[in-house]
Amino acid sequence: MSKSTEAKVPYVVSNIERCMCPRCPVQADSVCTLEKIGNLKNEMKSLGEGEAPEPQKVPGVYCSAGTATCSDLDPNRDCICKTCPVWEEHRLEQASPMMYFCNIGRAT
Ligand code: SF4
Ligand code: SF4
Repeated sequence: MSKSTEAKVPYVVSNIERCMCPRCPVQADSVCTLEKIGNLKNEMKSLGEGEAPEPQKVPGVYCSAGTATCSDLDPNRDCICKTCPVWEEHRLEQASPMMYFCNIGRAT
């Protein structure tokens, strides 16, 4: 794999916990996403400390995991990644793509 296609953001619990995607308007009316948001706390509790749930169970960190598995998102609304500490920490303003990872794919 060439360096330019490597994910910039590690898929780890601390990033899942800080991700703003669960509060994003793009996902706000997604029944599929709301179900995942509702289940996430219990999902995290059922795992050992530091263990991350499978990406398809997490309604966020698309900058790391790639596109959303839910298909009822509304990409015409505003992405709020720029308000996220993970975005800032990993300097995703320099990544490609730099936003809408749920729709376009992970940051490289
Ligand atoms: S940058 Fe966006 S996709 Fe990545 S963790 Fe933050 S809100 Fe989620
Ligand atoms: S990647 Fe951006 S547009 Fe997609 S859910 Fe997260 S904050 Fe919203």
